[in-house]
Amino acid sequence: MERLIEGYKHFLAEVFPGKRNQFHLLAESQAPEWLFITCSDSRIVPDLILGTGPGDLFITRNAGNVVPIAANDVDGVTATIEYAVEVLRVKHAILCGHSDCGAMKAALDRKGLENLPKARRWLSHVEGAFSHRQPLNPADGDAAELAALIRGNVIAQWLNLRAQPAVVRAVEEGRLTVHAWYYDILTGRIEEYDEKARRFAPILG
Ligand SMILES: [Zn+2]
Repeated sequence: MERLIEGYKHFLAEVFPGKRNQFHLLAESQAPEWLFITCSDSRIVPDLILGTGPGDLFITRNAGNVVPIAANDVDGVTATIEYAVEVLRVKHAILCGHSDCGAMKAALDRKGLENLPKARRWLSHVEGAFSHRQPLNPADGDAAELAALIRGNVIAQWLNLRAQPAVVRAVEEGRLTVHAWYYDILTGRIEEYDEKARRFAPILG
């Protein structure tokens, strides 16, 4: 825990004073423009990757960046989506998967899930990845097969996101755009799914 306490000391002494005005404004309300749905994986640090900070991203995370289907009973992800879209009125919803995703590795090889009854049930939500699996990309090297499945999962969860009632309404009203991203940890590259072209392409270059 020492490392965290040291980090907190640094925040209080060095970071907070410089952002005092910003936190003063944020203390009573938030108006994030982006809903960001991603995996729990420790290597995904949205504020670092996107240059955002306090008040910018409304985030929900879980193993495998899952969005349960709209017909399911309530859960933490879909309740968060509903609040972000209906109350906070975010302008963009971003579903972001990533390379080397442990949840998707487990979906490929379920042996590791034998003693994880909760994870096993949760990962039934990523079954849709198999029917949206993307073409192999040589740039992914030895991980190409896994990466193709992960991109398939991004599409599956993005479709689930777009089918959430609050999202359907907001998109119809023209106040929400829904994006599907794949983040590569090794290179830092982000790809976005192009629905018309039916393929992922780098956001930059
Ligand atoms: Zn993951």
